[in-house]
Amino acid sequence: MPSQPSNSLLGLNLQELTSLSLESGQPAYRGQQMFDAVYRQKIDRLDQVSTLPSEYRARLTEEGWQVGLPAIARKFVSSDGTARYLMELSDGETVETVWMPEGDGGEIGDGSEAGDEIEGGASPAAFRRATICVSSQVGCAVNCRFCFTALLGVKRNLEAGEIVGQIAAVLRDQGVEPPRQRVNIVFMGMGEPFLNYDNFMKSVRLLVEGVGIPESRMTVSTAGIVPRIYDFGREPVRPKLAISLNGSNDTLRSEVMPLNRKWNLADLMKAAREFPLRTREKMTFEYVLIAGVTDAPEHAREVVELVRGMRARINLIALNPGTELPYRTPEEDRVAAFRKILVAAGIPAFVRRPRGRDIFAACGQLKRTTEVAPDSESKSTLSS
Ligand code: SAH
Repeated sequence: MPSQPSNSLLGLNLQELTSLSLESGQPAYRGQQMFDAVYRQKIDRLDQVSTLPSEYRARLTEEGWQVGLPAIARKFVSSDGTARYLMELSDGETVETVWMPEGDGGEIGDGSEAGDEIEGGASPAAFRRATICVSSQVGCAVNCRFCFTALLGVKRNLEAGEIVGQIAAVLRDQGVEPPRQRVNIVFMGMGEPFLNYDNFMKSVRLLVEGVGIPESRMTVSTAGIVPRIYDFGREPVRPKLAISLNGSNDTLRSEVMPLNRKWNLADLMKAAREFPLRTREKMTFEYVLIAGVTDAPEHAREVVELVRGMRARINLIALNPGTELPYRTPEEDRVAAFRKILVAAGIPAFVRRPRGRDIFAACGQLKRTTEVAPDSESKSTLSS
């Protein structure tokens, strides 16, 4: 699938920026200066690279180079402090990026729900940590039955610079600066990162080396593109891995994730079991609970069998509902009962707290909606 052709500095690594400088007859260290300006300083215009001589800046501009930061087309702020950004790319396509202040996954069951929230979200003084959920494709090709992004189909892959650019744009807007301030990245927005593998991995390296976010603070989630799970295990620098399980047997999983017909549970769990985990690392499995479909106690018992003996944790996500989908969210006690079966079997299991449901920012709700939920009234604020 083609990516957008580009003349953006964002997306180029140190070596590429150095070559660019040398080709223009500039000294090699100009590459480092551009690298710092683009990724650490997060400039949005070339004339802000004060370390470069003005003639060189002018020449780059003449040659059509730009920084390539996506534009924030819309920003929706939830009553829980979550912000959903609609980002506009250079060809006019849009993707979504979600900012979750105080978010480290925010799971129920990990002890962090004990009322330590800061009122009103992330004022700079109160900032402790945040999670950015980033998109990897415009739309998605995977077609999970319960996910809104699937309704869009896939338009194109994002370039590495467009993935990093979402993060740079959000950090600028929030006034937050890694590595001094703690930011987690989850590759869990629109798209399937493992179907845009090379650009996704390049963005990881740019985030580590350029922006200053360590890979230990990043998690990528895949719907289960099995060959790429093996490739990913061989990467010297890589985020943590989460796998969307979502069905406890092949019949059920194929029903909600048609992709299971290509790579079934045996293939997927083999790849997961062979995955080379690092010291103290666990494999995360996400499991979306759909009322009357995937949330029965027998399903929980099947999940126990699937992960038996693995260093794994399960993140349970109660379905985030939407009008176009035929599925319902389970009652809270169903979710609790499901979790209890896993925990009783010795499997760490957590319920992911929905973030920003009122602005359609929660898992599976990203479909470039320009409205907020009708029942959220004035709780959400809208700014552009
Ligand atoms: N394509 C990747 C990345 C998306 S991550 C993947 O599938 O893993 C988004 C997570 O949200 C996945 O675990 C997915 O199963 C889950 N999800 C999708 N739609 C959802 C919905 N409507 N409610 C709750 N979770 C959903």
